[in-house]
Amino acid sequence: MTKGADFLLDQVSVQYQNTLALDEVTLTISPGEAVGLVGPSGSGKSTLLHLFNGRGQPTDGWASVSGKRLIDYGRRDLKQLRSRIGFIDQGLNLVPNLRVSQNVIAGRLGQVGFAKSLSMLLFPSRAMLREVHELLERVGIPEKLFERTDRLSGGQQQRVALARALFQKPVALIADEPVSSVDPARARDTIELLTRISREEGLTLCMSLHNFELAREHLPRLIGLRDGKVVFDRASEEIGDEQFDALYTLEKNEMWRDGS
Ligand code: ADP
Repeated sequence: MTKGADFLLDQVSVQYQNTLALDEVTLTISPGEAVGLVGPSGSGKSTLLHLFNGRGQPTDGWASVSGKRLIDYGRRDLKQLRSRIGFIDQGLNLVPNLRVSQNVIAGRLGQVGFAKSLSMLLFPSRAMLREVHELLERVGIPEKLFERTDRLSGGQQQRVALARALFQKPVALIADEPVSSVDPARARDTIELLTRISREEGLTLCMSLHNFELAREHLPRLIGLRDGKVVFDRASEEIGDEQFDALYTLEKNEMWRDGS
């Protein structure tokens, strides 16, 4: 897989039991693009992002990654796809009582067998530790290499999650609400870091953000989702308050109507 994966959704719907999480979504994300996904909670952002590393599948329509439809990926190919798409979850999925180095090394475990994984974690080579250290330098916390992960602040843990994703040698970075649990100043730092590193590495970046302003400030293209539908998809500089209203005002009206 070459750097800068591209993603294509063609009339994609995803249905969970009684919920239509995505409703005929069509969009293309080109190699090396940086795109923000915005919309209220429950609008389908996570469902959409999970299609990009094959964690989810469309119920209807076609989803393709790097020119190949998800449905045509075999089990082994899907595993490989997941190991090459850096996915940063809201919960970060770090193991709290491991050292930072071990959490970063864990990024590559999907690419090797069990025995090799164990030896990488327990007895990392000097070369591997050097590589981890360089990544920690890039994300601004080189001094934390051997620190226990749960001793780090929320913002520092986000940097570990980013370093772990980069250690995968990813072709794209996908981040699902990566800054929802930190204060706005830290959130801004992390988003800046994510966008800068993706640009420098030529990685495609797609992240969902609850904070509309932050998204508009840092990502050149925004896709607005509401009730599983794309409400807008355009350059951030063209996005005004009307677009924000289209996503959120109705919600307010609905709240009034519900009497809450
Ligand atoms: P967002 O990321 O924008 O908050 P999600 O993609 O998580 O939205 O969810 C979209 C809708 O699908 C919501 O109504 C949510 O409750 C529902 N949903 C998400 N995952 C599941 C699931 N595994 N089973 C049933 N419903 C789900």
